Amino acid sequence: MATIAFIGLGNMGGPMASNLVKAGHSLSVYDLVPEAVEKLVNEGARAADNPGQAVEGADFVVTMLPAGKHVAGIYLGEDGLLQSLDPKTVVIDSSTIDAETSRSVGQAAREMGIGMMDCPVSGGVAGAAAGTLSFMCGGAAETFEKAKPILECMGAKIFHAGDHGAGQIAKMCNNMLLSVLMVGTSEALRLGQDNGLDPKVLSEIMGASSGKNWTLEVYNPCPGVMENVPSSNDYKPGFMVDLMCKDLNLALENALQNGSSTPMGALARSLYTSHARKGNGKRDFSSIFEFLG
Ligand code: NAD
Repeated sequence: MATIAFIGLGNMGGPMASNLVKAGHSLSVYDLVPEAVEKLVNEGARAADNPGQAVEGADFVVTMLPAGKHVAGIYLGEDGLLQSLDPKTVVIDSSTIDAETSRSVGQAAREMGIGMMDCPVSGGVAGAAAGTLSFMCGGAAETFEKAKPILECMGAKIFHAGDHGAGQIAKMCNNMLLSVLMVGTSEALRLGQDNGLDPKVLSEIMGASSGKNWTLEVYNPCPGVMENVPSSNDYKPGFMVDLMCKDLNLALENALQNGSSTPMGALARSLYTSHARKGNGKRDFSSIFEFLG
């Protein structure tokens, strides 16, 4: 069993760290919020007073932080963790951040002989709790093989997308497509309803036809079509509109830098940003169905 430092115990990091404890690993944990640390300590982890103390003697370091500035802040600079890590430590950053920051932190680690992977996830809070997340990983193949057994304690599907930053790019592409599918599914269901069709029947027809997609079949945005999805629970998240806006901003900034053409992503960002501004930021992203009403 490994010694693991886990930093960032929020909605996602908390349950991910719990699964590592359940798998029998020895965890040292740190977060700015004492209650988040206490919860993990009650499950068998050790509390660290600061990130430096958390990583002492660690075989693996896992971070699950809000944005690129937090990740750069923890790892880089004179007080950054990279300065104090043993080169045999494997570093896993599962935060969803800009690929540029992942590349620069990953490259800085490589120059110090430390193996680092960007490993953002898909599957949300429910997937984190169930240990069924998908990990999209960027970094050296050798580091990926070392990280894999740890990732398997928290996820069901583990992909190696390429070198540093590739995990972030894969996640960014997936979520941009997801937003477009959600808007498209919502407007098709609205159009059918406006013509008097039963959305359940229409969903069944499209699900068996060429309009079939995940947002229609697994996460239907129209209330009452499916049980146990956010649309049938007043759009309680699930995956928040604010987080979809964050991911679309990452995708569109990247597209701008690369000169990539992403007209549907740009439209989806515009719709989701307006929806958030109308007070829906903390609701599930399938509530875009109401926005189109
Ligand atoms: P969160 O805000 O619930 O948790 C972030 C945690 O990081 C907080 O507990 C915060 O106190 C801690 N933190 C911030 N700065 C810190 C620092 N310097 N040192 C130690 N701890 C620090 O966020 P979350 O929902 O857990 O998301 C984490 C990451 O996962 C984000 O990048 C998010 O985009 C991504 N993500 C979230 C979801 C989701 O459904 N919530 C799904 C996939 C990916």
